[in-house]
Parts: sequence; C-alpha cells; structure tokens
Amino acid sequence: MKDKAFLMIPGPTPVPETVMTEIAKHPIGHRSSEFSSILKEVYANLKYVFQTKNDVFVYTSSGTGAMCAALENLVNEGDHVLCLSLGNFGNRWAKIAESIGADVEKIEVEAGQVIDPEVVRKRLAEDVNKDIKIVTLTHSETSTGAANDVKELCSIIREHGALSVVDGVTSVCAMPCKPDEWGIDVLVSGSQKGFMIPPGLAFLTANDRAWKVYEQCKHPSFYFDWAAHKKAVDGDTTPFTPAVNLIVGLNQALKMIKEEGIENMNARHKRHAMALRKALKAINLELLVKDDKNASCSITSIVPPEGLSVPDIRKIMKEDYDIVVANGQNKLKDKIFRIGTLGFVCDRDLIAALGALEATLDKLGHDFELGKGVRTLIEGLKEI
Ligand SMILES: *Cc1c(COP(=O)(O)O)cnc(C)c1O
Repeated sequence: MKDKAFLMIPGPTPVPETVMTEIAKHPIGHRSSEFSSILKEVYANLKYVFQTKNDVFVYTSSGTGAMCAALENLVNEGDHVLCLSLGNFGNRWAKIAESIGADVEKIEVEAGQVIDPEVVRKRLAEDVNKDIKIVTLTHSETSTGAANDVKELCSIIREHGALSVVDGVTSVCAMPCKPDEWGIDVLVSGSQKGFMIPPGLAFLTANDRAWKVYEQCKHPSFYFDWAAHKKAVDGDTTPFTPAVNLIVGLNQALKMIKEEGIENMNARHKRHAMALRKALKAINLELLVKDDKNASCSITSIVPPEGLSVPDIRKIMKEDYDIVVANGQNKLKDKIFRIGTLGFVCDRDLIAALGALEATLDKLGHDFELGKGVRTLIEGLKEI
C-alpha cells in the first residue's frame, strides 16, 4: 500500500501532521516582523528544551554543521583535543578537530560499550600541564545505541579545567540532558532527531566558559560564527537566510514539546526503550548494549539471530509491513539493525513495529514463541 511507510530509524524521524501543514505554507520573508515574532518564540522555547539560561543558536545545516560550529569557534591549530568515542559519531568529533589542525587524542571503546569515567579521570589527572583544552563526547551514540553518563564525565572534565563539548543530537528531547546543571560547556543537537521536524536545522548552546575560549579563537567560522549568531538572537533574527519553513515548523513542534513537558517527553522515551529491550530479549534476540543503564533511550541495536540476515529482516519489514528500521553503519553494516524510538513515537507505533518484527522473524524461520514479544512489550509499557 502506498503512503504507509513509517520511519523507525534514528533520523529522520516521523513528523506530526500539524508540523507538516505549517511547513507546507508559503515561505514568509525572513526579515519580516511576522518571522521575527516566530523566532522570538522559537529562541525562548529552545532554552526550555535545552534546559539552559544561555542562548540556543539555530543553524541552517544538518547536525554535523553544529558540530563544526562548536569546534571551529574554539580550536586553534595545534590545540590538544581529547575525543571520547563510542563509535561513528564520537569519531566524527575527532575528524572535525583534525580538519582544523588540532592535535587529536582518542579514547575509544568496543561497539556497544560506554566510556568508563575512571579512565577519563586518570587520563586528565596525568595532564598536569593542562595541555588538554577540549574534551568531546557523545551523549547517545546513534551508531551503537550506547549512552554515556554525561553528568559524571562533565564533572570530571570540569575538575581538570578543559571544556566539555557534547553531541546531544539523539539525546536532547529523548533523555535528560541538562547543560547548566551538569556543567556541559557546549551542547549541540539536530532537527531531524528528537525535535519532530525534517532535516535541515541544527542547534548549539555555549556557556560563559566556552565564550572565553571562543574569544581566543584566531579564525572563527564565518557561517557558524557565534558572535554573529548571538547578535542575531538578541535581535530576534538570523544572520543569513535561514530555512524559513523549517523554523515555522519548529515553532509548532516546540509548542507540542512544551505541552507534553520536557520531563514527560524524556520519560516517554525511557519507557519505550526499556519496554522494547525487554520485548526483544523475550523473542530471543541479542542486544548490542547489554546493560539497561548504558542504553540510549532513542535507539536500540539488535544483533540478528544466527542464520538470519539484516538485509532480509529490513526488506521484509519494509516491503510487507511498511516499517523502516536502520542498518548498522560502517563496520556494523549488516551486523546489527537499529530501531529508533525517537521523537514523534507513541505506544501504537512501537507495538506495530514489534508486531511487524515478530511477523518478519516468523517468515524467516527464527525460533521463538510468536506473540511473546508483543505481550512482553505491552506489559513493559504498563510497568513504568
Ligand atoms: C544524526 C547525528 C549527527 C548529525 O548527523 P547529520 O547527518 O549531520 O544530521 C550527529 N551525532 C549523532 C549522535 C547523530 O545521531
């Protein structure tokens, strides 16, 4: 059947009808008073969602643009940057830092694992000359579904004195992420993940400590320059022509988030992710992230059963049930598949996806008790 495809991938994510109809309206002038009043609301509501008193900048770019906007405004050639990497997106910080000429050091873990805070504490304690200027980390690593203890890591980084620069692309909206309370110095996110709008916008917030480092940056980015964006936020405008329609859509999506409440939205994601994990185990599937406490609330990675292929599972899910789940990335391609429960996802969507997965596994001859996953899921959703 046409027009039934439903995305259960970690971005782009489903978009509410009311947001789509806002985006479908004719563009308005980006220097009009009408757009200015929309931006005023957007900037205020973004502070609510990011749980910060600091400004949140809106960039017309994908999430990676905001990652560039972070490091390109902080790093000078030769600066020592420590990248804590759980996978693909952790490595992206290292690649961006390298592209600016930083002296990059990486602490990496196996796919599905998280950073041990004690390892970071030890490494930073060794840095008696305070050479390490910036530590990058990923909150929810989308390529594996593992989530770092950002609060603990940032407090260790703060003790040392380096800046913490955090990728919250699949955590903001989905998991508690509190820059002011936890001492995150720079936090970035992207629109097509938890924000329930299509790809094309990215966000960045920076605190006073980060601004001091920005002042020392010899060649700040032109397009992503913080000072230009700060000035624009103060004037309820943007430095350049933004993706006007997406911002109109974002305004609507932020209203929906406020109405649900950010804590309730976080709780919904946790409830979904934890019930899903239980259900998957009940149908004899192996999870890449073993421990619930290290699991992202927006993305769950599954190792296919012996003898079943990821492309077959994804193909049947899509062709027979119109549900799109994601493959693994890079080294994990065809080794895992990933179910996104990020953004505009309700219990019905999850129950349908798990039912479709059970039907798919049944067609492929997997050994399990048909229906046990859906039953476990429904029970799990009641519990929390
Ligand atoms: C999606 C994503 C990004 C940004 O990717 P873009 O394709 O540039 O939007 C960055 N970090 C994480 C963890 C992500 O999931």
